[in-house]
Amino acid sequence: MGTDGLYAEKTTKSAQLHLEASKWIPGGVTANIKYFDPHPIVMKSASGAYLTDVDHNQYIDYNLCYGALIMGHGHPRVTTAIQEQLAQMGTTIFGTPHQLETEMARVLVDLYPGIETVRFCNSGLESTLLAIRLATAWTGRKKLAKFEGHYHGGYDQVLISVNPSLRNPEDPPAPQLDSRGIPDYYAENTIVLPFNDLEQTAAILKKYRNEIAAVMMEPIQGGYIPPDLSFLRGLRELTQQYRILLIFDEVKTGFRVGLSGAQGRYGVTPDITALGKVLGGGFPVGAVGGKKEIMEMCSPSGGADILTPGSLRPSPGYTNILFHSGTYNGHPTALSAGLATIQALQEPGAYHQLEEHTRKLRSGIEEILDRYGVAGQTVGVGSIFNMVMTDHPVHQVQDVLRSDVVMRKKLDFSLINEGIYMKPLNRFSLSVAHTPDVIMETLERFENGVKKVSK
Ligand code: PLP
Repeated sequence: MGTDGLYAEKTTKSAQLHLEASKWIPGGVTANIKYFDPHPIVMKSASGAYLTDVDHNQYIDYNLCYGALIMGHGHPRVTTAIQEQLAQMGTTIFGTPHQLETEMARVLVDLYPGIETVRFCNSGLESTLLAIRLATAWTGRKKLAKFEGHYHGGYDQVLISVNPSLRNPEDPPAPQLDSRGIPDYYAENTIVLPFNDLEQTAAILKKYRNEIAAVMMEPIQGGYIPPDLSFLRGLRELTQQYRILLIFDEVKTGFRVGLSGAQGRYGVTPDITALGKVLGGGFPVGAVGGKKEIMEMCSPSGGADILTPGSLRPSPGYTNILFHSGTYNGHPTALSAGLATIQALQEPGAYHQLEEHTRKLRSGIEEILDRYGVAGQTVGVGSIFNMVMTDHPVHQVQDVLRSDVVMRKKLDFSLINEGIYMKPLNRFSLSVAHTPDVIMETLERFENGVKKVSK
């Protein structure tokens, strides 16, 4: 039996429940990312760094809801904030403006160099969608440039070349649709760029400079492949030169790699920033912030009150309001959980500790892989990393495609069997609940998992 079937022996109730769910829900999952073969694991409770499934198996959680739960599961500061918020409101939501929106907006403006004003929405997807609409309206151009392998949510405009095929490094990337049902229009109007390759990126941007509204990027690819600083700075200069807006999708990196996200960490300021995940403290949330003039297009006045001739100009003939709305935008429970999370992260040493624990885990993993003769390395920034099974440097998605993905998958299933939970082939995230004891326990389990695949 391959390692993928190992965990199936102790997760029979999960298998049963998944079968039942599949009668009513396509594939038995409400998001494709939650699926893996032979069946996903159904969880029933969680605490701190641990998840417990319906068969009573316990896992150390390195998925943490795809990086959102930086405080771990059920942190008292977060749960107390939500309970107090609900009790104080006497309802679940007002459907009107409320003070937490302003409070959170101030915090974001204070922390993020690229945010002067901000709007809230309900997911990372919604935030990148609004960011693109703002850029399209502002510049009057219709093409979007995005990077190969960068994920910005599950909609037509950006489900392009997120999972590309291998290509010759000399050739520029070409747009590839990642889903059925996406009209060709999007491929025709999307320019795909190679991450960390300034020369090719510059040549492509020059060619399409008058057609591109924005370059949208994960400043840290997949949350784990760091940008070369010269690349990031060079891109900022080029976009300014061509009056293309630079959008940082900081849905993964915001509050993850520091209080001011990747823009604070690298000192490069985008025109528009998209946030999500950690910002909601475990609740659905998104936020889009940017230069005041650009953001003001969302205002009921359409920005007419504040527009002045500046370095950036709106498209000729733009007079209308840019539509942005949503029943649950700025949900008070999400904002109260998010604010409690941010306050905890603002305590001295919070990030230092998270990163120190992550470093220990990463070096332990690399030492074990080395000892058992498994080619591989960890690649990451702050408290997120991934395992890439290659000894070659990893600069972009093509390097990951060239790594030993089969071994990685085997190892992932072996780790799940040992009680380390992460989505196979996905990155690892840590939380404040991943204490040195938890790291030690992880490394013991990790070694047991590696033993089974290294022979
Ligand atoms: N952008 C990035 C960088 C993401 O990692 C994700 C989700 O993983 C999204 C956008 C979409 O966020 P959501 O799943 O909240 O819609």
